[in-house]
Amino acid sequence: MKIAIIGGGISGVATAFYLKRFSPTNEITVFEREPDFGGKLKTVKKYGFSIEIGANGFLSNKPDTLDLVRDAGLEHLLMPSSDKARKRFIFDKGKLHQLPENPKAFLKTKLLSPIGKLRVLFEFVIPAKKSDTEESLQDFGYRRVGKEMTNVFLDAMTAGVFASTPEKLSVNAAFPAVVKLEKEHGGLFKGMLAKKKKEAGPGGILMSFKGGVSTFIEALAASFSFNKKLNCEVTKVKKLGLKWLVEASDGTQEEFDKIVIATPAFVAARLLKEEDEELCELLKTIEYSPVAVVALGYDNLPHPLDGFGLLTTKRSGIPVLGILWDSSIFPDRAENGNKLLRVMIGGQRQPLLALKEEDELLNIGTGGISETMGVYEEPLLKHVVRWHKAIPNYAVGHLALIDRIFGRVARLKGLYLNSNAYKGVSFNDCVKNSKETALKIISE
Ligand SMILES: Cc1cc2nc3c(=O)[nH]c(=O)nc-3n(C[C@H](O)[C@H](O)[C@H](O)COP(=O)(O)OP(=O)(O)OC[C@H]3O[C@@H](n4cnc5c(N)ncnc54)[C@H](O)[C@@H]3O)c2cc1C
Repeated sequence: MKIAIIGGGISGVATAFYLKRFSPTNEITVFEREPDFGGKLKTVKKYGFSIEIGANGFLSNKPDTLDLVRDAGLEHLLMPSSDKARKRFIFDKGKLHQLPENPKAFLKTKLLSPIGKLRVLFEFVIPAKKSDTEESLQDFGYRRVGKEMTNVFLDAMTAGVFASTPEKLSVNAAFPAVVKLEKEHGGLFKGMLAKKKKEAGPGGILMSFKGGVSTFIEALAASFSFNKKLNCEVTKVKKLGLKWLVEASDGTQEEFDKIVIATPAFVAARLLKEEDEELCELLKTIEYSPVAVVALGYDNLPHPLDGFGLLTTKRSGIPVLGILWDSSIFPDRAENGNKLLRVMIGGQRQPLLALKEEDELLNIGTGGISETMGVYEEPLLKHVVRWHKAIPNYAVGHLALIDRIFGRVARLKGLYLNSNAYKGVSFNDCVKNSKETALKIISE
């Protein structure tokens, strides 16, 4: 079977890998617009620093990426995050607070008032929601753990993971496991206790790869045979009887039995416009959050960077979403004992900030570091990445939208959609969905 994959991010490359593994006679071609595979997984090397322009790793509490690494024989590239990175901080109301790691620390934290803490404990007796209608993370949080907990912990976490805000995110689409806890056990505490009894064992840690995520993507792409069409933007796809015609910027016009569109949803919308106008309109409604990543490298930083980094709350009024202490998380990200920080700016909280000029973003980044960490040293390295459409924002109604999108896709035989736009944003989710897409393709 001849299969084209459009988009060579992790979703595209992992789908190609599993298609080849499940059925070695498949002839796979991956079209990628950029000179390298990886998409949002890419490492830039500069002045002895390894800068991740997007994701810096994946969590080990889900098996998907670890399985892919093992399946490709690339375990030797794995790198766990340093023990120094277990402490996390939240910047709230002008102060940095360590994120409480156990119930005793939670009772002591100054992040919540005594009433806010009591309200969280009250979660035990809040009845479960009866209906399955989608709800924002904010409504869910206010209902279960109260306003304070939502506006501090859930707000900071949403900014860190989704570059979103609790009011703009569907809890059902973004955190299905949390919704399941309520549904199956009647509440979050009850669910967590039940799970703890069943699954005694260590929780997950952040994992990455020696030298950065690009090392892995390059090794994965080299671990199996497929046609690599780099610097090659697909401009059109067209159904021709039982086949699909793919047209690309290098003049390619080739027919395939099946195609997988592994680009962001707005690109899929463009490509499918002539095939299915309604599908195109649905795809266009998936919104994306802009994010700027400001990397700052230091050769003279006295700050110990003892932890993972910090997230901010909206009510702190600060123009950064968070600061990752990258060289503490993965020490090889900075050579010679130098230190590397990455500042995240924008998201749904302050979308326009992410689109500012580079100089302004550098000022916001260094200003954010001074205000939250008291660091005023001049960085040796300054590197800015602006993502106009960084991360899909799973708004309330996302699950219903995805049902409609995949309903239309099912009518176009031989077409598959697979990227972070639909069923999970994390590295692990992308790998899981890629394996499932490959299985679906070979079974149909
Ligand atoms: C700043 C940031 C930090 C993140 N941090 C983390 C993290 O720490 N952990 C985590 O789990 N996740 C993280 N994520 C999320 C995760 O990185 C992404 O969800 C994931 O990498 C998306 O992979 P993808 O293949 O679905 O899409 P993409 O990476 O967007 O890949 C799509 C590919 O399609 C290509 N393309 C587009 N149009 C065309 C065309 N017409 N023809 C050919 N090719 C085309 C693009 O060039 C791109 O390579 C982060 C994301 C960002 C932006």
